[in-house]
Amino acid sequence: MKALVAIKRVVDYNVKVRANSDNSDVELANVKMSMNPFCEIAVEEAVRLKEKGVVSEIVTVSIGTQQSQEQLRTSLALGADRSILVQVDQPLEPLAVAKCLKAVCDDEKPDLILMGKQAIDGDNNQTGQMLASLLGCAQGTFASDVTVEDGKVAVTREIDGGLQTLSLSLPAVVTSDLRLNKPRYASLPNIMKSKSKPLATVNTDELGIDISPRTKQLGVEPPAQRQAGIMVGDVTQLVDKLKNEAKVIS
Ligand code: AMP
Repeated sequence: MKALVAIKRVVDYNVKVRANSDNSDVELANVKMSMNPFCEIAVEEAVRLKEKGVVSEIVTVSIGTQQSQEQLRTSLALGADRSILVQVDQPLEPLAVAKCLKAVCDDEKPDLILMGKQAIDGDNNQTGQMLASLLGCAQGTFASDVTVEDGKVAVTREIDGGLQTLSLSLPAVVTSDLRLNKPRYASLPNIMKSKSKPLATVNTDELGIDISPRTKQLGVEPPAQRQAGIMVGDVTQLVDKLKNEAKVIS
């Protein structure tokens, strides 16, 4: 069974993001970039399935600038066999990313496509669903457990008020939730080995894809500064402030 894992390069989750000087976008100069945490979970799941003998090959794919090779190399150090970079110079919308992944899937014919449920930069939570739709295949989103058996994949999903388990026919798209697993760290020998694993680069013209945007980002702004809190003496004073200062009760 071949697994394809889509990974995105994003601002590291420890970085406190700031708007750039003209508020046109998030400041990316000199900011630490990493693999999207949900994509790390997807890579870990693929590696665990390979260790169980269920998956025989893991291909990781990223759509982005040349620097996304760093995150692809990290995935190779974590256990992927080879990587594909779809090189683009501008950020893409989820639909364009899904189209790129569809073209790669048409070529690679993976049985299982693992993705993050969401990229922590755009918070879109759209690409997996769009890819499944373009491929016309099954999808299991927000997976907290994945079991492959008898040519099917059982996906337990975290939904409001409980868990839902689906049985998907293959090929299928599965998007990872936080509790699916705890990703490992790459060991130094594996980081060294990853440097000689294959990493191919293609562009969107070669894939024959229209990536023209349908939306335009008009601006970004930081959340309003929170006011300092105050201690009130008693409930009467609290009610008075809620009524006359905050004006949230009448
Ligand atoms: P999103 O729909 O943008 O929240 O992203 C959901 C998931 O789609 C991510 O966790 C990745 O698995 C995949 N994805 C989104 N953008 C990219 C990209 N540029 N390259 C590779 N995978 C991506």
